[in-house]
Amino acid sequence: MPQLSDPIRYLKGVGERRAKCYEKLGVDTVCSLLRFFPRTYTDFSETKPIMECELGSVCCIRGRVFHKQGEQRIRKGLSLYKVFVTDGHSDMTVTIFNSRFQYEALQMDKEYCFRGKLQGNLIRREMNSPEFIDPEKNGMICAVYHLTEGLTNRVVSGHIRQALELWGDRLEDVLPEQMKQQEHLCHLRFAYENIHFPQDAHALSVAKYRLVFEELLTLQLGLGLLKSRHREETAVIAENCDISGFEAALPFTLTEGQKQAVADGLRDFRSGIPMNRLVQGDVGSGKTMVACGLGYCMAQNGYQTAVMAPTEILAVQHFKTFSDILEPMELRCALLTGSMSAKQKQAVREGIATGKYQIIVGTHALIQDTVSFARLGLVVTDEQHRFGVNQRAKLAEKGERPHRLVMSATPIPRTLALMIYGDLDLSVIKEAPKGRQPIKTYLISGKKRERAFGFIREYIGKGHQAYIVCPLIEEGETEAFSVTEYAQRLKRTVLSDIKIGVMHGKLKSAEKEELMGRFAAGEIDLLVSTTVVEVGVDVPNAAIMMIENAELFGLSQLHQLRGRVGRGSVQSHCILVSDNPNEQTRERLKIMTQSSDGFYISEQDLKQRGPGDFFGSRQHGLPQLKIANMVEDMETLKRSQRWAKKILSCDPELALEENRGLKTLVSELFERGTQENG
Ligand code: ADP
Ligand code: MG
Repeated sequence: MPQLSDPIRYLKGVGERRAKCYEKLGVDTVCSLLRFFPRTYTDFSETKPIMECELGSVCCIRGRVFHKQGEQRIRKGLSLYKVFVTDGHSDMTVTIFNSRFQYEALQMDKEYCFRGKLQGNLIRREMNSPEFIDPEKNGMICAVYHLTEGLTNRVVSGHIRQALELWGDRLEDVLPEQMKQQEHLCHLRFAYENIHFPQDAHALSVAKYRLVFEELLTLQLGLGLLKSRHREETAVIAENCDISGFEAALPFTLTEGQKQAVADGLRDFRSGIPMNRLVQGDVGSGKTMVACGLGYCMAQNGYQTAVMAPTEILAVQHFKTFSDILEPMELRCALLTGSMSAKQKQAVREGIATGKYQIIVGTHALIQDTVSFARLGLVVTDEQHRFGVNQRAKLAEKGERPHRLVMSATPIPRTLALMIYGDLDLSVIKEAPKGRQPIKTYLISGKKRERAFGFIREYIGKGHQAYIVCPLIEEGETEAFSVTEYAQRLKRTVLSDIKIGVMHGKLKSAEKEELMGRFAAGEIDLLVSTTVVEVGVDVPNAAIMMIENAELFGLSQLHQLRGRVGRGSVQSHCILVSDNPNEQTRERLKIMTQSSDGFYISEQDLKQRGPGDFFGSRQHGLPQLKIANMVEDMETLKRSQRWAKKILSCDPELALEENRGLKTLVSELFERGTQENG
């Protein structure tokens, strides 16, 4: 009997090789293939007569093949095939490059719909490599899937069709009947069929609504389950909330925002209810100090604090910050990361279990089963959007209802934050520490790159340091290749006398750390890097950041990157390089030159890029949604939230048999990989 959990290999035409390709796309079972939703759709339904189409525009033409001209070999590796098509009034030439398969798929005297850019002149019309379908065999709206090498859209579609035919009866609809009626949700089978092979635009929207609703309901149920776990009272109570010793030990005074955030936390510590607080503050606003002050308070009361950072680099940096401040006051700090030797880890784990250490900083190594705390009182997660919501919860489960603090540099609009985080309390740090000069930001074209290099050289000559960040340049080309190549070119040419370090995600953690250490110590002048420097790294002497292909980044990410400089008292600069002529893109990048306010920038980001990208890139630490979009589907989000509340109020643990299916959906959504490690 076929099961939805059957491996994808059970499908005809999926061998070992294709199964591997599917694996890359996160598809391993028949069920995950059915839930491999289209990226977008190509619409062939609005066809026009050839002569009514504007030259140079993408359009859709329905026409009959009346002549086929065989293969023309232009040179080795380049063949052309020409097919002549008529719409009954006028003709057009369709040229296909290198694909005998496509050429042969087009039969004489049959009608097809072609979609592509129409070119030509007053009398002749042509299309190069259009997409086409046979309208007798297909719906007019065709799904377009994310692909990887070794898979074509046609192949994926074929497998999904097969899966629907053979496994479609096994789909289990877990939504309550009453909900389906009241919310006008279609049947599950209809939804799957029409999301992949829409009959028409209406059927597609009905299908999509049903699937979006189900996903958002699942999300809300999962968040509800997580929250209810922390509702109960906690025994972690801090009687002694005097942190003047901590403040006196700092080389600076806390800003008003920092003081307020610390005070919010101290109040929570006395309340008897576990704190669940989000500290939002722009890059460089000094969020780490809030955690440090609260950790100090915990230690005064005999509790441990665990601080989890998303990368090793950041964990090491936090460890240094915490130990520099707290160790002189006789508090013991420990570091626990994945790259430490087994022996080192063992020793640290022992110290955590016996209570020798009061502050424990680490990566996700902290949430492993082998780590247990003597008396965990506070759990801090830095750059929380990098962690999955379940990873945060896992760390908290190591104590008995400890207090929780999450720190985020990705400001999200308040209404959304409330919707997403629900009962999370919010402390906002508005102002940066005194004495900071705003970073001067410029947008330049590649032509001025040489001048920028000159500028960088000049700054380095004055004893400062710089970053150059390159995005992944092209698909297929590895990250390591592009930055390494770039740095070598610099060494050979303009910046031959400068000490350059190269950093990318392919390096081992220890190598990255060593490199960062040398950069922080001033042994390296210029760090050429991919976005691994994006998160939290703090080297105050770095004063210039140049970002190549700036158009490939989102505004919030650019702001994060730029936040790596401007941390000292010297005037810092950020140079965005882009040759993209698109007017909108330039407008978008100009925002960076005009504002240094992270909250404003993220708002603009949301407006300009649209929520799809903003929320697609894991800015919030929630499980990755497959089909719903938290901004576009806000209305559905609200409706589903009401149902989730209703269900949980009757069955807070989703333990009833009637909710078993929903519970499975929740665990599937929340267990999907959410860890991303630079
Ligand atoms: P972020 O909010 O981006 O995590 P950090 O906590 O890394 O910021 O702090 C950025 C820098 O500001 C650090 O070098 C830190 O020592 C410094 N800093 C923090 N608070 C203050 C303050 N009140 N006055 C001056 N410098 C501060
Ligand atoms: Mg930080």
